[in-house]
Amino acid sequence: MTRFRASYSTLSTWASGDWEKAIKMYFKLETFTSLAMEEGKAFHKMWAFHIEKNKSTPPELGNIKLINPVTEIKKTVNIHDWLDLVGVIDCYDKPIIYEWKTGKKSSESYASSQQAGVYGVLATLSGLYVDQAKIYRYDQHVKKSDVSTVWITDQVLKDSMNWIETLSSEIHNYFTENKLYEKYYTYGNCEKCGSLKAKSSSGNIYCVNTCWLKN
Ligand SMILES: [Zn+2]
Repeated sequence: MTRFRASYSTLSTWASGDWEKAIKMYFKLETFTSLAMEEGKAFHKMWAFHIEKNKSTPPELGNIKLINPVTEIKKTVNIHDWLDLVGVIDCYDKPIIYEWKTGKKSSESYASSQQAGVYGVLATLSGLYVDQAKIYRYDQHVKKSDVSTVWITDQVLKDSMNWIETLSSEIHNYFTENKLYEKYYTYGNCEKCGSLKAKSSSGNIYCVNTCWLKN
């Protein structure tokens, strides 16, 4: 059986009703990128470098002293025989997860989404103890930042897990019934990790487990 690899972006896109985009994102049939997203990525790289080097966040992210920060933690956790949860945690410093955002949308609006809870589940199931998620938003255009905290309580973890499972089973059933796994996963298994391979919109064959990325 092909396992569904749930990520926050696929789940939230599906939940918003844009099924077509969710499918295209999941099977990498199209790349959804913008100048803002590229800028965001560049900031993330710069910040990860700064944090690892200085054990503190840069001035635009509050200049907070950190104890033992680890940045860009890529995690895959198995939830059911048909379901994995995947994601990259921007920064973890026990017991806090940090999420960095750029752009005009306030940290509050991110905090009211399911994202912090989903990352809370991902961290907890990976054995990283977490009791809060802090979302820092830096608006590079006006050079201002704000922060919101989400407490990762047992109830939040329970609700987030429920959200993940409900949406994932809907998507996985849709993919299975419409034979989308068979249609797109026809390139055998990855030589490195054994996961399935697929073809991206640019024509490259890639491992769906993205095992070449830092773990
Ligand atoms: Zn692989």
